[in-house]
Amino acid sequence: MSKPVVSHLLPTYNRAPVAFERGEGAWLEATNGERYLDFGAGVAVTSLGHAHPALVKALTDQAQKVWHNSNLYQSPLGERLAAKLCDSTFADVVFFGNSGAEALECAMKMARKYHAAKGHPERFRIITFEGAFHGRTMANLSAQKKYLEGFGPPLEGFDQVPFGDHKALEAAITPATAAILIEPIQGEGGIRVVPPQCLRGLRALCDKHGLLLIYDEVQTGVGRTGRLFAHQGQGADPDIMAVAKGLGGGFPMGACLATKAAAEGMVAGTHGSTFGGNPLAMACGNAVMDEVNNPAFLEHVRKVALNLRQKLAALHDQHPDIIDDVRGEGLMLGLHLKVPVAELVEAARAQHLLVIAAGDNVVRLVPPLVISDADAAEAVARLDRAATALERAHQGGSAS
Ligand SMILES: *Cc1c(COP(=O)(O)O)cnc(C)c1O
Repeated sequence: MSKPVVSHLLPTYNRAPVAFERGEGAWLEATNGERYLDFGAGVAVTSLGHAHPALVKALTDQAQKVWHNSNLYQSPLGERLAAKLCDSTFADVVFFGNSGAEALECAMKMARKYHAAKGHPERFRIITFEGAFHGRTMANLSAQKKYLEGFGPPLEGFDQVPFGDHKALEAAITPATAAILIEPIQGEGGIRVVPPQCLRGLRALCDKHGLLLIYDEVQTGVGRTGRLFAHQGQGADPDIMAVAKGLGGGFPMGACLATKAAAEGMVAGTHGSTFGGNPLAMACGNAVMDEVNNPAFLEHVRKVALNLRQKLAALHDQHPDIIDDVRGEGLMLGLHLKVPVAELVEAARAQHLLVIAAGDNVVRLVPPLVISDADAAEAVARLDRAATALERAHQGGSAS
C-alpha cells in the first residue's frame, strides 16, 4: 500500500488506501478480504445498507425491461414515486434530477422564477447560512460561499448570514429577496441542528415578507432522523425542498419537491435533465420509499439511534480528552472532537470502522438506517479502541 500509485482519476479527492468490492447490510468487504463496519454509508447514501434484497430486485428487474427513455414520454415509475413523495409531505409536484446539487439548482431557479412570473424579476436574491453546504455547481458554491477560490466570480444574488443570528437574518431581507435556503441540520458544516422554533421563525418570516422557504434535506431526508424528513412534525413546512443522497439507496438521483404555488413559474421548457427520472433510478427510489416510509421502519431508526446515542454519551465520558460533545438527531450524529478530526477518522479505519469527517472538527456517523443494536454496539467498541489508541499516541508525544 505504500508504493506510489498512478491514478488517472482527477485528484480532487484525498482517497483512503482501501477499496471495497462487496457488501451486505452495514458491512463492507475490501479487496483484500478484510471486513469493515460502514458508518459512513457512502456519505449518508446507502440508506438500506449494501445489497438490500428489495433494492437489488428492483434494479435488476428494471434492468431487464428498459434503462432509459428521456422525459419526452410518460413516466409511470416517476409518477408513482412522485405520488409517494407528495402523499407524505407538503409537496404537490416533484422534479427528478441526478444529484443533490441539481435538486438545489432546480430549487433556486424555481424560487427566482416564482417571483419573475408574478412580475417581480428583481426579487432574485437568496439568503443562506454560514456553514451551509449545498453542492459543487457554480450556483451551489455561490450560495454557500465556500470552495469558490479560483473559480472566478460567483453567481450574483446570494446573501449569507451567521448561523443562528436572527437579527442578521432580518436585516438581510430586502425588496430583492426571493427565498431563504437552509439545511434543517447542517451536515458538512458539522452536524449543527436548527432548533424547531427557529424553523417556525423562518416560516413566519417568509410568510411576512412573501419569501419562499427552501429546505435542503439532501442529507437529512428519507428517514435519516427517524422522521421521513427532518422538518416534519416541527410545524414549519417549506415551499420547496431538495432531496437526494438516501433517496436512491445508492443509485444516483435527486428530487426537487414543491407546492403547486411555488412551482407556478416552472412551465414547459423552463427546466430539464436528460437523465433525470431515469427508469433505473425511479425503480430504486420507489423501492427505497416502500421500505423507509413505513412507521415500523422509522420506529426502528429512532430506537437504534437512541441506543447509539446513549452509547456515544458513555464514550464521551470515557474519553473526555478526545471527544468534546455529541450532537445530531436520529442516525445523523456527530462527535465534536478535541483532537484533529482526521486523526480519529484514520484511527477508526485502523479498527475497520468507516466514519466521515465534517466541518467544525466533527466526526460524522451516518450509518445505513438498517443497522442493528449489535452493529451500533460494535461501532462504539471500535470507536473506543480508536480513541484509546489516540490517547496513547498523544501521551507518548508521537501524534502527528
Ligand atoms: C451532499 C449534499 C449536497 C450535494 O449533493 P450532491 O449529490 O453531492 O450534488 C447538497 N446539500 C447537502 C445538505 C448535502 O449533504
